[in-house]
Amino acid sequence: MAETSDQREPLFVRMHPLDNVAIVANDGGLPAGSVFANGLRLMQAVPQGHKVALQDIAQGSVVRRYNVRIGTARQDLPAGSWVNEAVLDMPAARSLEALPLATVQAQVQVPLDGYTFEGYRNPDGSVGTRNILAITTTVQCVSGVVEFALKRIKAELLPKYPNVDDVVGLEHAYGCGVAIDAPDAIIPIRTLRNISLNPNFGGEVMVVSLGCEKLQPERLLPPGSFAIRDERHAGSAPAELDVVCLQAEAHVGFMSMIDSIMQTATRHLERLNARRRETVPASALVVGVQCGGSDAFSGVTANPAVGFCTDLLVRAGATVMFSEVTEVRDGIDQLTARASSPEVAQAMIREMAWYDAYLAKGSADRSANTTPGNKKGGLSNIVEKAMGSIIKSGSAAISGVLSPGESLRQNGITSGLVYAATPASDFVCGTLQLAAGMNLHVFTTGRGTPYGLAECPVIKVATRSDLARRWHDLMDVNAGRIADGEASIEDLGWELFQLMLDVASGRKKTWAEHWQLHNALVLFNPAPIT
Ligand code: CA
Repeated sequence: MAETSDQREPLFVRMHPLDNVAIVANDGGLPAGSVFANGLRLMQAVPQGHKVALQDIAQGSVVRRYNVRIGTARQDLPAGSWVNEAVLDMPAARSLEALPLATVQAQVQVPLDGYTFEGYRNPDGSVGTRNILAITTTVQCVSGVVEFALKRIKAELLPKYPNVDDVVGLEHAYGCGVAIDAPDAIIPIRTLRNISLNPNFGGEVMVVSLGCEKLQPERLLPPGSFAIRDERHAGSAPAELDVVCLQAEAHVGFMSMIDSIMQTATRHLERLNARRRETVPASALVVGVQCGGSDAFSGVTANPAVGFCTDLLVRAGATVMFSEVTEVRDGIDQLTARASSPEVAQAMIREMAWYDAYLAKGSADRSANTTPGNKKGGLSNIVEKAMGSIIKSGSAAISGVLSPGESLRQNGITSGLVYAATPASDFVCGTLQLAAGMNLHVFTTGRGTPYGLAECPVIKVATRSDLARRWHDLMDVNAGRIADGEASIEDLGWELFQLMLDVASGRKKTWAEHWQLHNALVLFNPAPIT
């Protein structure tokens, strides 16, 4: 039986051994005079999620959290003081000039061998965690027809193919009424193309097209672009794109279209059904991490646990992507310093500059200034807030960068920690990570969101025990146990790692899978709509 919070000992959470501040963990905060287990005595009342000085910090000295300078002391801060924005001088917001490039030597981490999962091998070397038929669409016009066909495929065909997990329609708002020759149109087009090639779909690409749309099937998937199939048929003629065109003269009546989609689906379902899971190394995992509905504990419990797990995955040879430009922009110097080479750092700067210009074009303020809610929750400034998000990326060197909609594999990336530039919007970020080749998704949340994707399992990590208790059948991991003093960041990181292997193997389903909670694909289209 869990104790209620007011019965608990005073607890703080320190993010790094070199930090000189820590966060009060107890619900409702702690009164002046509270004494922690290490003897530290609070000089003032400190709210939950707020910082306390762990040692005497002299005026002008650096205040360090996440082993990063989050400001300097405006006055002497004796051990046990409340450290908030009123006593901190904020570091200047970073411009993209004169950033440190690959200056941090990442700690050499021992390879983690021997971890495996059961996955579906693809001929191109990628591995699926699920065996799903995806029906690509070129334009929103066909969505109603595809939805109709999907219901019949699920009811009439799927039961005959027990090794196929699901069938999904890759529906979206793009395809026509858009400036398709605008330079930025490359982003939505390659996103959709690369999602069609996601490892969870086994290379069985089929397309439903209207006929008159701007995004013609051969523009979406030019010959040779759907590589998984091509390699399987090596030596034979290049595979032809399997397209059902609704305006084709052969179709007389609606049922003709539905029959045609079902016949095409049958061919692909037969091939997918013949696949079996095989034991593959954990290095085949391609994990996308992101957060949404964050709270003051996101950067204290869930994101650090994910960061520890990210290090485990990188040590196991897996690929991990972190994203969300606007969440990390104000910690950019931390990222460029951690790049594996000056070129990788420059690529990161290029993505930030592109996004700065994109936001400026829309007269949006790029600054992620802390909101009143952030400050109330204990986040003193933008650097501290960004660090809470960046910590999901762990401590490994950042060895690759993707532009929105790009594929890891097509960029020659098959391992390591990658910065995949995306908006922070949950749906846009998830969609772009699918395009990159994600086969497992980890999502941290403090306020709570039922987020899920049809294309890939989503493991959701709650930042607080309160949320994990209330949403017991929606949250997969409770990182709130870190703040409760019941588990360490390392414990949670390992637990998450093991859960990932189980979920990737199909041995466990996530709650979002259990309830079939599927958010829409949302293509990032920075080009004009016409
Ligand atoms: Ca997000």
